[in-house]
Amino acid sequence: MDINEFRKRGHELVDWMADYFENIEQYPVKSGVAPKDIIRQLPESPPEKGESFNVIFNDFQEIIIPGMTHWQHPSYFAYFNANNSYPSVLAEMLTATMGAQCMIWQTSPAAAELEERVMQWTAELIGLPKEWDGVIQETASAATLVSLLSAREKYSDYEVNRGGFYNRQKFTVYCSTETHSSIEKAVKIIGLGKENLRKIEVGDEFAMIPERLEEAVIRDREQGFIPLAVVATFGTTGSTAIDPLEPIADICREYNIWLHVDAAYAGTALVLPEKRHLIKGIEKVDTFVFNPHKWMFTNFDCSAYFVKDKEPLIRSLEILPEYLKTKEGSRVNNYRDWGIQLGRRFRALKLWFVIRTFGASGIREKVRNHIQWAQELVQEIEASEDFELLAPVPFATICFRYKPKGVSDRDELNRLNQQLMETLNDSGKMYLTHTKLKGIYTLRLVIGQTNQEKRHVDQAWKRIKATAANLSG
Ligand SMILES: *Cc1c(COP(=O)(O)O)cnc(C)c1O
Repeated sequence: MDINEFRKRGHELVDWMADYFENIEQYPVKSGVAPKDIIRQLPESPPEKGESFNVIFNDFQEIIIPGMTHWQHPSYFAYFNANNSYPSVLAEMLTATMGAQCMIWQTSPAAAELEERVMQWTAELIGLPKEWDGVIQETASAATLVSLLSAREKYSDYEVNRGGFYNRQKFTVYCSTETHSSIEKAVKIIGLGKENLRKIEVGDEFAMIPERLEEAVIRDREQGFIPLAVVATFGTTGSTAIDPLEPIADICREYNIWLHVDAAYAGTALVLPEKRHLIKGIEKVDTFVFNPHKWMFTNFDCSAYFVKDKEPLIRSLEILPEYLKTKEGSRVNNYRDWGIQLGRRFRALKLWFVIRTFGASGIREKVRNHIQWAQELVQEIEASEDFELLAPVPFATICFRYKPKGVSDRDELNRLNQQLMETLNDSGKMYLTHTKLKGIYTLRLVIGQTNQEKRHVDQAWKRIKATAANLSG
């Protein structure tokens, strides 16, 4: 491919991209292919001779597209969204074109300084303390990992990094039973051992019970453990429950425990001043993560990680081989020392494009709409005789199930709801997923796709009701 063809194909692809967005509702939301359908169509060995762009792009359309689930479809209600938006996609094109490795300031000063500024903007957007530092991590999982690592190092006087984890007193970590799997993964990866992760009981609304946390901490101290860290979740993955921050933070203060907040999904809701009361006590937290790549219209990956004190983070992770020493030294941020990997993509650019294009008010308007539509649907579900709500809805994720009159057997209801979900998803018209709450098969509908409108939510609810009526009828 030469530069002339690059230019020509580039224009064609931008047209394809715009057509894709314009016609996205004509695609089935969830791909309907069977296992191995795709790989069977791919040659076992790479081509010896280069192929033409036409042939490659044709295969993209014929083989790849049918095997894609369309996450930007406005009838996508599954998992949590992984949104993009027009300005975000355009910025990603520029990032890909420059192909810069933004590991240290010198390898692209603008990338480092834009990231610093855009993280300040983001902190301000969601009401975090002004003095905190922010850095973009690849995922919330990675942010939680470096948070717990920072805690391990700070609380061991940086001894584990030096001498390894031998003959030390055991550290314990606390989270709720509803916490995301990335916490256990992090505990395993950094050598704390999953036996030393305490999953604290939740109350009726799936939030951590602070009294249970304190009891566990006291018990562990009596038995010679060192309580190291608590991970509080702001918006759990199952039901978007909110662990009560202030009482948890007070326990952490009292017993000198590190506190990390995982707000991967719901952090975006904090753009709304009316939601800020939910993080009362935030100034007592050590670290906080949320994902603009979920609900803030920015392409994956873009996870915003904030720290009250950057020293434990940098001291835990910094490396300085000869070839990375530069004369700017500590006057600049070298983000390779703020995360796991050395090489870094220029991710701040898309967030900058997104925030500037929508403006703070544009972001707030979208998020406020999503929450409003969710609350309206909640009212419909509550008013319906054949459906019931299974958890509070503080944001825009609704946990509910079909419960037709006359059916009360739990297994029968679980089976019916699974069948309802699979029928809806197989239709290609909408996509939602499930969770289990207290052993109940729970349908989980997430409102929040970038270009979603009220009508998509209305259609989904109509479709759910009609499909359910057909199941039993
Ligand atoms: C989605 C989610 C995660 C994982 O996010 P990644 O960025 O994919 O690692 C972690 N915690 C919670 C509460 C989540 O909802």
